[in-house]
Amino acid sequence: MKSHARVVVIGGGVVGCSVLYHLARAGWTDVVLLERDELTSGSTWHAAGGMHTVNGDPNVAKLQKYTINLYKEIEELSGQATGVHLTGGVMLAATTARMDWLRNLVAKGRYLGIELEEISAAEAGELMPLLDPGEFVGAVRTVVDGHLDPSGVTHAYAKAARKLGASVERFTKVEGIARRPDGLWQVSTNKGEIVAEHVVNAGGLWAREVGRMVGLELPVLAMEHMYLITEDMPEVAAWNAKTGTEIIHAIDFDGELYLRQERGGMLMGTYEKAGKPWSEVETPWNFGHELLEPDLDRIAPSLEVGFRHFPAFQKTGIKQIINGPFTFAPDGNPLVGPVRGLPGFWVACGVMAGFSQGGGVGLAIANWMIEGDPGADIWAMDVARYGDWASMAYTNAKVRENYSRRFSIRFPNEELPAGRPLRTTPVYDRLSEKGAQWGVAYGLEMPLWYAPEGVKDDFSWRRSTDFEHVGREVATVRERVGLSEISSFAKYRVTGAGAEAWLDRMLACRLPKPGRMTLAPMLKEDGGLIGDFTVACLMAQRGGPPPFIPPHKGEGVADVESLSAASEPGGNDDAKGASTTSPSPLWGRVRGGGMPGSDPAEYLIFGSGIAEQFHMRWFERHLPVDGSVQVEALGLGIVGLSIAGPDARRVLEKVTRADVSNAAFPFMAIRRMDVAMAPCLVGRVSYTGDLGYEIWMEPEYQRHVLDVLLGAGAEFGIGLFGARALNSMRLEKSYGSWAREYRPIYGPLEAGLDRFVAYDKSADFIGKSAALAEKSNGGKLRLRSFAVEAVDADVIGDEPIWHRGEVKGWVTSGGYAHHAGTSVALGYVPKEIAGEREGFEIEFLGRRHRARMLDTVLFDPDFTRMRG
Ligand SMILES: Cc1cc2nc3c(=O)[nH]c(=O)nc-3n(C[C@H](O)[C@H](O)[C@H](O)COP(=O)(O)OP(=O)(O)OC[C@H]3O[C@@H](n4cnc5c(N)ncnc54)[C@H](O)[C@@H]3O)c2cc1C
Repeated sequence: MKSHARVVVIGGGVVGCSVLYHLARAGWTDVVLLERDELTSGSTWHAAGGMHTVNGDPNVAKLQKYTINLYKEIEELSGQATGVHLTGGVMLAATTARMDWLRNLVAKGRYLGIELEEISAAEAGELMPLLDPGEFVGAVRTVVDGHLDPSGVTHAYAKAARKLGASVERFTKVEGIARRPDGLWQVSTNKGEIVAEHVVNAGGLWAREVGRMVGLELPVLAMEHMYLITEDMPEVAAWNAKTGTEIIHAIDFDGELYLRQERGGMLMGTYEKAGKPWSEVETPWNFGHELLEPDLDRIAPSLEVGFRHFPAFQKTGIKQIINGPFTFAPDGNPLVGPVRGLPGFWVACGVMAGFSQGGGVGLAIANWMIEGDPGADIWAMDVARYGDWASMAYTNAKVRENYSRRFSIRFPNEELPAGRPLRTTPVYDRLSEKGAQWGVAYGLEMPLWYAPEGVKDDFSWRRSTDFEHVGREVATVRERVGLSEISSFAKYRVTGAGAEAWLDRMLACRLPKPGRMTLAPMLKEDGGLIGDFTVACLMAQRGGPPPFIPPHKGEGVADVESLSAASEPGGNDDAKGASTTSPSPLWGRVRGGGMPGSDPAEYLIFGSGIAEQFHMRWFERHLPVDGSVQVEALGLGIVGLSIAGPDARRVLEKVTRADVSNAAFPFMAIRRMDVAMAPCLVGRVSYTGDLGYEIWMEPEYQRHVLDVLLGAGAEFGIGLFGARALNSMRLEKSYGSWAREYRPIYGPLEAGLDRFVAYDKSADFIGKSAALAEKSNGGKLRLRSFAVEAVDADVIGDEPIWHRGEVKGWVTSGGYAHHAGTSVALGYVPKEIAGEREGFEIEFLGRRHRARMLDTVLFDPDFTRMRG
């Protein structure tokens, strides 16, 4: 075994071998795969070998398509047969709700280039002779579906990689991994030591144990999984003889089953409701090529449905039942990418469909390591989508739920209950009492809408029970004033003598002046959008009263004067002194004073909460080594409430002594001010597109601030609003959001964020040359808004946009804009047709709906409300 390698890949399952192959194919041949046993000694060897392109996430679907197309290449290069049978398949619906889901899938396939065709149950019966058409309402025919030989594929990757110069060391168990002072990784094995620049954890069933070697607790858990193989079936033989073809694949969603031909019989696998985790805490190292004890009782309910839906099974004996474990992340998608805080340590694990996804995972890792970028939008697989909150117990609850729902429909308004509530803010109980219906983002509960007593979400593809109530919340904001909980934003504090120069390089915008905020796109080198922030500049203060808060003597102060007298206006006690003891996240530097002799700025960045790890990984990767800049994710160290609507200022005026008039506190200003007794930071901004304020505070003040705002707002008819009302309002302002409109596959011009890019600023911000190139060549796409002629359902995202009879684009998000009274979609179309108004249609629920491209935003196009 070598003593040094550029990359060590740990694990010789299908995923590790794919990573090795892709590195070698890209020219990195000083790479070694270490496998503790024979190749395939984890989940890989006993897999059912099914493969398909369909995935809930369109970008993962693209990588699945890539994987399946790769098998010919590795077979040719390695000379090793992969046993690929591209049979095609049928996806079956036994209910109309499932059929609606399948129709949406067909529509999505159109812009992904995945061939899917809606067919009747009778037609499905002609393609797949074992099913009883009477049990189904319809189906979808798939072309790129099939099965393969799991061992053949794994060895083909490994042989092809070896041919290109990579090495594979079998029976070499990694026992320890340590980071050396020079930044390289020391990998200790039972056969000696090896030093590497990069280590990839592709440990599959042992990914947790390999992670623990570097102090990581990865959110993965193995579940037992069973499939059965029947005796030879005469129906199968007859079909083979008659058609000269195999029986095609079938997925029976309502039976929670998948089926395919296996020699002269059939293979039937099930994702049973009563799924069972395996080795919940630790995977035994002595587990290898053994199977688990089958448990027919556990899968009996699914088999019962299966035998009814596929009657030929009733007369056939079961030859073998395979029960084996394989791993899942909480949401069922892989965990891929570099790990924050461990430079050169990568994960490629939690891959539950190794034969559909392994190729794409290998490609993404190789691109990322070599080029610094995965080369595709892999947000849905990025390990950074989880934070420390994804504990072992959380993972256990979520993986069980995910397994039991593998083939279940998830309606657009459906929130899944397992592992919740986990992270909550101090006002959680208060808002629950007021009817909050909760959703979750990054483990944090956030109100979606407020339901009257006895009303709750009725899960549906169509407008549902919440519709009228969300409409009422929107009306409250647009006509009076609404209050919402906004703690789910990520907040980062950037400090240090080098903060300004560093941010000027990280962000494509011009940095705001002290006391101001601005929208701040962040780009990667190729100009792709990797952040849509609001950045605020707060000037450090060296004592005396805060400069932006002249004592306010206007009306409406009286009722809070007594409350806030202790802290204002006599100056800020903390700010007067030089004490910097135990700085709080919000006030640490604001109150503590700047560097002696300088006046360094402090910046706060607000961004999408779900991308906190993703952004911190990026920030930390780019921090200067001299320690002149500090970045800190404030998490729930800071929480927030927002008020918005025409009466928002009048409410704020009642609870603060600060002058919040438009002249003194204009749009995009940010200041420290007390809200009643609570020290807060208030930004004049609102995602609703209305006059509004975001009020940030330390958690211990949040209940106080909530009570004060609701009390002060009562005379104006203040009401609570949730994320669904916010979505409705941001749609009528055509505001995009992270992971929807703003993703790394779009440039700032394409996404309509170019007006926030300071192309001419002197700082050489990351992605500048690519952004300039996009500006001159115009990019390829444009984000556009559409009013959709919808009746009882709205788009949700990922629907195709037709233009004059051809699919030209895709929807990124949508919904009903209650104030404007129209259904709205946001989506990307080629720039060539971005100037056209007519001829557009958006397909959902099996029908194309006329859509009119909007030439202006639906609400407050001249900003009089927002800026007034
Ligand atoms: C019953 C069953 C049916 C399935 N059916 C399908 C299907 O039809 N289609 C599909 O796509 N997927 C299927 N799967 C899932 C599929 O098996 C997995 O997605 C895939 O095998 C994951 O591969 P992997 O390389 O990530 O992990 P593994 O196969 O578990 O490989 C990990 C490897 O790492 C090695 N290793 C771990 N730790 C160390 C160490 N410290 N040092 C050295 N080596 C180490 C292990 O020995 C092992 O060989 C099925 C799984 C089961 C159990």
